[in-house]
Amino acid sequence: MTSLRLILGDQLSASISSLEGTSAEDFILMCEVMEEATYVKHHPKKIAFLFSAMRHFADQLKNSGYNLRYVRLDDLQNTGSFEGEVRRALKNSEAKEFIVTEPGEYRLLKTFEAWKTSLGISVDIRPDCRFLCSTDEFKAWAEGRRQLRMEYFYREMRKKYGILIENNGEPVGGQWNYDKKNRKPPPHGMSSLKRISHAKDFITKEVLALVKNRFANHFGNLEPFHFAINREQALIELDHFIRNILPHFGDYQDCMVSGEPYLYHSLISSYLNAGLLLPLEVCQKAEKAYLKNQAPLNAVEGFIRQILGWREYVRGIYWLHMPKYGAMNYFNATKPLPEFYWTADTKMACVAEAVRHTRDHAYSHHIQRLMVTGNFALLAGLDVKQVQEWYLAVYSDAYEWVEMPNTLGMALFGDGGIMGSKPYAASGKYIHKMSNFCNRCGYDPDQTTGGNACPFNALYWDFMARNQDKLKNNHRLPYVYATWDKFGTQKQQAIKKQVDEIFTKMKNKIL
Ligand SMILES: Cc1cc2nc3c(=O)[nH]c(=O)nc-3n(C[C@H](O)[C@H](O)[C@H](O)COP(=O)(O)OP(=O)(O)OC[C@H]3O[C@@H](n4cnc5c(N)ncnc54)[C@H](O)[C@@H]3O)c2cc1C
Ligand code: SF4
Repeated sequence: MTSLRLILGDQLSASISSLEGTSAEDFILMCEVMEEATYVKHHPKKIAFLFSAMRHFADQLKNSGYNLRYVRLDDLQNTGSFEGEVRRALKNSEAKEFIVTEPGEYRLLKTFEAWKTSLGISVDIRPDCRFLCSTDEFKAWAEGRRQLRMEYFYREMRKKYGILIENNGEPVGGQWNYDKKNRKPPPHGMSSLKRISHAKDFITKEVLALVKNRFANHFGNLEPFHFAINREQALIELDHFIRNILPHFGDYQDCMVSGEPYLYHSLISSYLNAGLLLPLEVCQKAEKAYLKNQAPLNAVEGFIRQILGWREYVRGIYWLHMPKYGAMNYFNATKPLPEFYWTADTKMACVAEAVRHTRDHAYSHHIQRLMVTGNFALLAGLDVKQVQEWYLAVYSDAYEWVEMPNTLGMALFGDGGIMGSKPYAASGKYIHKMSNFCNRCGYDPDQTTGGNACPFNALYWDFMARNQDKLKNNHRLPYVYATWDKFGTQKQQAIKKQVDEIFTKMKNKIL
């Protein structure tokens, strides 16, 4: 039976399951559609990266002999949606079957499933075998467990793939996790190596012109544009990271430094998520660096845990709990997202820095996402939907399967503890310890009340106090509530007053 096979923008892997068993009559469809580029206003760098990577991948498939139809955004007949393009493609073909690899968003999965009825065609949605844990396997692991802790899942994955495992089944070095060694604050004058910038060929230049023209009203700077746009370039970046940067990854994983968006992070999430790199090859290359004494165990284990552990785990959580997950809002957080998330126009140096990195690079590293913009959103009670939409729009690696659990679950504790054992709430002291931002800030991280007090401090206590009924029985928080009680009424009232002033300033755009 002739089939039409759709390849999505984040499925740019030669091994993608939708290509398996392709015969000469089958044809492959790839399309740039406005609906997907704008259902949230994606960062222009993300759109340019994906369109250029798609066009390069399409050329690769054509050169390998596939019968490929590629629809560009500016093709006159482009209907602007997947459904419109699939209908258009079906009109001129004999295809009786639609084949696709499972998408990274629940919304699209439901769309494809519905085509069986609405398009009257057989629909084959295949598993995405690029992930190291299938959705069924995760479901089986989760079955009957009271808590789904990443650490235990990660150990299973280490054993399954034999990564950093001795012959006797024990973890290399005797411990599963070396995170205690990975929390060093930044040394004075810390900076990182210059990162790779790839030369732009004709395809990328054409895409940059298109994006500049069509998405000028989206948040973020399109240029300079440094992204790898094919597998070959992504591998160059990966090798550069493993050789030169991975040795320092662990020690300084949680640091934040002014003017240094990347530090010792790998910058490969966009390539992994789009399919230019595969997670197992990345873990194996990192393991090899350890075995060849090119990187220490705490760095290699910490890096592998992010991919073999966290990345697979958040995907498992997403598919296990959708669609209910998307509607969760444990703390009933509803305050509108302040404008400074788009403008960086705030006196809080840490937030301004994180937003500037985001605007300029479509990137900020994990700790800035979690402990600065995420932490502020949690403490201030910002609307969980608006916060999620922001994260989905502004990062080049953002797809709902990975963005939602990280934002709603990890940063906002909006899932009430499915992912975390307690909220990642922190006062300004944490940011002061792990960054040099406070040295350049108009606010004082040592003050909780008063005109110059760091807003994170009063907001932290107010968050704990106003959510006491939901958090007081959390076994990791008793000392927090003991301290709050010790403050006494006068100090507690001063904190409440401070928080009212913070919210007034936020409303008046002078925070
Ligand atoms: C609020 C919030 C939103 C996030 N949204 C996204 C998102 O939309 N897309 C995304 O890929 N990651 C997201 N993350 C996770 C993480 O911040 C990014 O994967 C990471 O910053 C990417 O940069 P890097 O490649 O330099 O990562 P590194 O720090 O070098 O880590 C290596 C790799 O590990 C994986 N990884 C690390 N942490 C996580 C995690 N928590 N979840 C999943 N994978 C992880 C990534 O593939 C990453 O490339 C989010 C985190 C938070 C706190
Ligand atoms: S003082 Fe507070 S607001 Fe300013 S940079 Fe430090 S943590 Fe951020």
